[in-house]
Amino acid sequence: MKLFPILITGIFCLLSQVCAAVPEITVGVFERQEKIQISAENGFAIYDISSKKVEVFKRWNKSVLDVSVTERGFGFLTHRNLRHIEIVPFRKHPIHVNKMVFRGILRIREDRFGKMTVINVLDVESYLYGVIKSEMLLNSPIEALKAQAVVARTYAIRNQDKFLKELGFGLTRDVRSQVYNGVLDEHDLAIQVVDATRGRILTHEGQPISAYYHSACGGATQDSGTWGNRIAYLKATDCKYCENYKDLHWEYELSLRDLTNKLREKGHVLSNISDVKLSKDAFGRVIRVELVHADGTMNMNANHLRTLLGPNVLRSTMFNDISRRTGDTDPAEKAIDQILNSFMSRMNGDRSIRWHGKGFGHGVGLCQWGAKGLANKGYNFEKILKYYYSDVSVTRLYD
Ligand SMILES: [Zn+2]
Repeated sequence: MKLFPILITGIFCLLSQVCAAVPEITVGVFERQEKIQISAENGFAIYDISSKKVEVFKRWNKSVLDVSVTERGFGFLTHRNLRHIEIVPFRKHPIHVNKMVFRGILRIREDRFGKMTVINVLDVESYLYGVIKSEMLLNSPIEALKAQAVVARTYAIRNQDKFLKELGFGLTRDVRSQVYNGVLDEHDLAIQVVDATRGRILTHEGQPISAYYHSACGGATQDSGTWGNRIAYLKATDCKYCENYKDLHWEYELSLRDLTNKLREKGHVLSNISDVKLSKDAFGRVIRVELVHADGTMNMNANHLRTLLGPNVLRSTMFNDISRRTGDTDPAEKAIDQILNSFMSRMNGDRSIRWHGKGFGHGVGLCQWGAKGLANKGYNFEKILKYYYSDVSVTRLYD
């Protein structure tokens, strides 16, 4: 019965590239709650969803309403044993829940532990107002912020049902989706860049793309193929524009004994690693590592090694081994070096690896510090996005 209007909307979207409706998303804002406190400036109505949207509470315009878990379900005042309610503020005022504030409406559901899940239902544009600040520094150039807004919108629309089956809402409000802290994280500049790019997302062959992004690539982005699944629009791209990232350079030093132990702790049983050899792509990014140990060698994806050692410690896979001499070192110097190394190994009972790296993050997709660099060179948001994502369009989904 509902097919006809959907088809009409679909054809309209195809013809004009503009659809009327702004997608509505569901974000889990509190889980496993026993008690929550709700208020809104002009009050709100409460509907019982589990019994077909009956109005259970016409207007609450006093101070805070306490909602608590009961013997079965949850409730407030004389209304008990509720399982799923909707809270709709009057005059579209934001709703205060505990110490947070949200646009849109709220749903409260009983979870499988007999506690409450609070879900914020709102249009994706209002959601983005509260996302931008957590994902990019607001002192960034305006075109870089616009690029970030398009990327964040693309992510939200593509992943709007990501956690629906598992958790009963589409997006989380932490790093598993995008960090969202509602109205308290809003800022005039964030609202400005969201409004300026309203409805625009990145598409490839008509579909929203997987818009991965990271802090700073350190010289070139990473090809998605190194993650095991090559995605046409996520290719390695040369990037000299993230040089202004203040923590661009880093060093990582670890004894081979500690490396062996750390990998053992994570389930890779290796006997005494004696060397680590790096294989790189054409841009100098480490793709694979060869761990030489007493019983042979083990090959490992560099991204996997980064996850095992800790992504905040091994800050990227763009690194060089500076513990060994490379190039045309003087043979006499090299011999002295070897003697010293072997002496140090005996003294310490172990040798160390020392890596010098650049950048921070997985390196796939948009380089945020690179986006800033490009914006400072005069690139607009669309050109910035097309620099990091190949063969994509900026498509306007709705007005
Ligand atoms: Zn970069």
